[in-house]
Amino acid sequence: MAGRRTFFFEGLGVSDGIAIGPAYVIESEDFRTESWQIGESEVDGEVQRFRDAVELAAAELRDIRQQVEEKIDRQQASIFDAHLLILEDPQIVDETIARIRGERRNAEAVLWEVTQQIGEMMKSLGDSYFAERNHDLYDVSRRVIKFLLRLYAQSHPSLPREGCIVVANDLGPAETAQFSKDHVLGLCTNEGAATSHAAIMAKALSIPACVGLEFVTHYIRSGDVLILDGQEGKVILNPTPDQIEYYNQKADEWRERVDSLRALRDLPAVTTDGVHVAMMANLEFPGELDTVDLNGAEGIGLFRTEFMYLDRGSLPSEDDHLRSYGHVLAKLDDKPVIMRTIDIGGDKLPSDQPVHEFNPFMGMRAIRLCLHRPDLFRAQLRAMATAHAGREFNVMIPMVSGLTELRESRNILEDILDRLEREGLNLPSKVNLGAMVEIPSAALQARTLCEEADFLSIGTNDLVQYALAVDRTNKAVATLYKQTHPAVLQLIKMIVDGAGETRTPVSVCGEMASDPRLAVLLVGLGIRSLSMSPSSIGAVKQVLRNISCADAEAIAAEALRQDTPEDVEVLLHFRLKELQSKIDQEAVG
Ligand code: PEP
Ligand code: MG
Repeated sequence: MAGRRTFFFEGLGVSDGIAIGPAYVIESEDFRTESWQIGESEVDGEVQRFRDAVELAAAELRDIRQQVEEKIDRQQASIFDAHLLILEDPQIVDETIARIRGERRNAEAVLWEVTQQIGEMMKSLGDSYFAERNHDLYDVSRRVIKFLLRLYAQSHPSLPREGCIVVANDLGPAETAQFSKDHVLGLCTNEGAATSHAAIMAKALSIPACVGLEFVTHYIRSGDVLILDGQEGKVILNPTPDQIEYYNQKADEWRERVDSLRALRDLPAVTTDGVHVAMMANLEFPGELDTVDLNGAEGIGLFRTEFMYLDRGSLPSEDDHLRSYGHVLAKLDDKPVIMRTIDIGGDKLPSDQPVHEFNPFMGMRAIRLCLHRPDLFRAQLRAMATAHAGREFNVMIPMVSGLTELRESRNILEDILDRLEREGLNLPSKVNLGAMVEIPSAALQARTLCEEADFLSIGTNDLVQYALAVDRTNKAVATLYKQTHPAVLQLIKMIVDGAGETRTPVSVCGEMASDPRLAVLLVGLGIRSLSMSPSSIGAVKQVLRNISCADAEAIAAEALRQDTPEDVEVLLHFRLKELQSKIDQEAVG
């Protein structure tokens, strides 16, 4: 379509690095039509997977139906009755099951073929009523396929074995987590924003990525040659030989820079006037532990445990939890680890919980879900506590809006510890319960929270989202998502001051900590522990080792006096310009 012409796409770079290679476009069509054979012994499981997906789709439809009825009206809601009827239609369900068994093929491929056959038949009737039903039929099938894909726990089967740059409309965190650096050179999407969980996953996997490119799937076809610059947020389709040469050179320089930053691995992050800032890593899944070590993290400041729940057909058992946590703790030796209880909801949804919410980031997410489903919460906390036998146990609660949730969490945790003791199990040597501060109400009440929290950790990704009312995953409002907004800086200052009054440790584990310029601001605001994606540690450490804490404080004080995020950006640019050129000169020298 694009011929051999060169096209440029600009979006947001969310994971550093340069990728050059053939595109692999994941269109929704691929999800539907991908077909593969299954073994005789897998047939029953495949049928069950199909039935589960139908059940999940039906539950989701019932949920939507109810919400539409409550919020709009009965007539609009009745559309979903028609959809539910399709899900009960033996012509579709029984036919799909019979063909999965007969042809020994995967459920999504068979369902899609059955849909197309029935769809063609309806179309041939040439009646507007059937045209509408046809539309419903495809809609329902897509919904079932969506669940089938979530229930399919292995990597996307059609990815080419050789390296490719994945191009998609949007990717969820679970899909992104399935990609491996060995096969995927880069990721680019039409949708997405800098702190969406898919972007965070790409960074965790060290796969260069750009999001918010708007039209990439419209122009790029599988096999087209692409250059992706994950720092600048650029994608070039059909690059010229000169561009390829230029970016190959840039890729070499980037690799050299990564190596030189890794040379700082064993040096502490101490400012020129002797203030130590702890460099901690955020961990998305245990497979990332090698990069944590490679980059010299002093411990784990945020272990996002959601990976346990994403993209699987059933809930993790207590043993599943125990194995994962035990593995992470064993690898970390005696380094500190802060485990976060599940933060499902928002843009991270478990496959067995088809919660349909109109506003998921404001809905049944994180601690709200845990208190609503104490069975999930208890299983996780119990496994965490057991894994920490004889060791200090740091656990933190996401999305705390005030003291009540923290108190309820502590009650449950204490009850679990009591039970473990009664069962004669070995307890953690010490238990520290922390609160994540990511909702403005918690920031405003930081002092009060500190009366009962053993530590605080500021989740700036959400704090920015909730303080500025900007959906962190929505490309359309991405330019309004400003980590440098003076109101955000005021909130952080308020948290640091509140924690200071009670000498409660406070750290930052949101993406702000990964940006060297913003890390200077955070240190200037009084933060002494930063937790970030492991690949960012080197660059942050390098800047902090070249600035005094007194200067960082002066910059932060000036930033707090600015009126707009743009003013703060300009201030940072000028104040850090000299420092950056000094660092660049040292790198050349
Ligand atoms: C945050 O909100 O800053 C945070 C660290 O948590 P998550 O990105 O997982 O929501
Ligand atoms: Mg958060």
